[in-house]
Amino acid sequence: MTNLNDIIIALATPPGVGAIAVIRLSGNGCIDLVNSFFATKNLSEEKSHTIHFGKIIDENKKTLDEVLVSIFRNPTSYTKEDVIEISCHGSQYIIQHIINLFLRNGARIAKQGEFTLRAFLNGQLDLSQAEAVADLISSDNEKNHELALKQMRGGFSNEIKNLRQELIDFGALLELELDFGEEDVEFADRKKLEELIEKIKGYIYSLIQSFQLGNVIKSGVATAIVGKPNAGKSTLLNALINEDRAIVSEIAGTTRDTIEEVFNINGIQFRLTDTAGLRDSQDIIEKIGIEKTKQKIEASNIVIYVFDVITTSPNELISEVNVLRQQLGINSKILLVANKMDLNPYTKPESYFSDFVNSENLITTSAINNMNIEYLKEKLFLMVVDQEISLDKTIVTNARHYDALTKSYEALNATLHGLNSGITGDFIAMDVRRALHFLGEITGEISSEDLLDSIFSRFCIGK
Ligand code: GDP
Repeated sequence: MTNLNDIIIALATPPGVGAIAVIRLSGNGCIDLVNSFFATKNLSEEKSHTIHFGKIIDENKKTLDEVLVSIFRNPTSYTKEDVIEISCHGSQYIIQHIINLFLRNGARIAKQGEFTLRAFLNGQLDLSQAEAVADLISSDNEKNHELALKQMRGGFSNEIKNLRQELIDFGALLELELDFGEEDVEFADRKKLEELIEKIKGYIYSLIQSFQLGNVIKSGVATAIVGKPNAGKSTLLNALINEDRAIVSEIAGTTRDTIEEVFNINGIQFRLTDTAGLRDSQDIIEKIGIEKTKQKIEASNIVIYVFDVITTSPNELISEVNVLRQQLGINSKILLVANKMDLNPYTKPESYFSDFVNSENLITTSAINNMNIEYLKEKLFLMVVDQEISLDKTIVTNARHYDALTKSYEALNATLHGLNSGITGDFIAMDVRRALHFLGEITGEISSEDLLDSIFSRFCIGK
């Protein structure tokens, strides 16, 4: 069980040398602890939200550093406990000595995410808000930054809490009926219960639907570029990322390993992989590349198939696309790129159209001249974002929430089914309890040690 009674300490800034480092302590009594090694004034008498300049001294009165100490008193702090932040000079030596001083005198090193765990356990944040703190720290693009910020401020958890409370009230009536056992009483109005469940289902459904987009915003779009050797894959990759990173070569089969590059279209991250060609090869090294290609294709959201318009006949393209289709994962989409249009500008894209290939998924480029690259980007964006990204709308980005929402949706469906088929109250009550359980897991009203461990172990130390 998590111990809330001791004082925890950790470096809150990244390890390494910097101008300033921040050491953080939390736990009731930490102000007195720091005060006993603060030579300049009596911190124990100072107010919350004040900053004090002075010396930190060790047990032998040796000065370790001149620092700024910030005081946040329980309950108006991040953890709702007394919190101290010491801004010292960013040297490893100083940091170690200050931390060790407090470890020798009663504090212990904080575990990963333990400050935020305390904030959660003390009721400062609900679980989904705590998770948003981790998302905020790791956000690396505009859209996932905005979403994390919104979720940290409450996001959809308030709405879930309210709906859950309504369902709890109904659940209590159902449980009460069970207490009367044999007697045929109905405290819970079935019609109203049904309406409430429909309302919750509708709300949850829109959240579940939003996850696909949320996931794209949070994790980016796995994109693979495939095609025969010399089709122009590396050249296209370079045009997309605008850098000369991939090795472009005229010898067939030289792109042997996979290279990952990331680029941004309207705030969405595309993770691009340049791969070896798909053709069968006797060459062992190339074979490994091809095996990797197959795995990449399966795991990609978007597969860009590049072909050379000079050397590829329409029939050949159809059979290639046919093979490719069999390797696509369920969530993958394919985009065909007819490359090297500059070598034969009279090529008619229509000549490639068939049952497999239509104008929707074929575009023409000259990668070497950057022709149509902007259009290609636009197309890629629309393939994953088929709606306006409006941050006023609630978007679920967290796989754990998605999972809990899906399970509560199923439980609500079972409840409805039970109501309609007239089964007894005890079964309905069971389904309601199940739905309540999964809804509660989102906000943390229901949580287990394992769940908390798995969530907070992903945090950095000091947060
Ligand atoms: P990969 O094996 O599919 O990665 O193909 P590369 O990108 O290495 O390109 C093979 C050759 O085709 C290189 O000489 C490129 O300069 C050339 N190439 C690529 N794209 C075009 C294009 O749009 N037009 C022309 N004319 N040549 C291209």
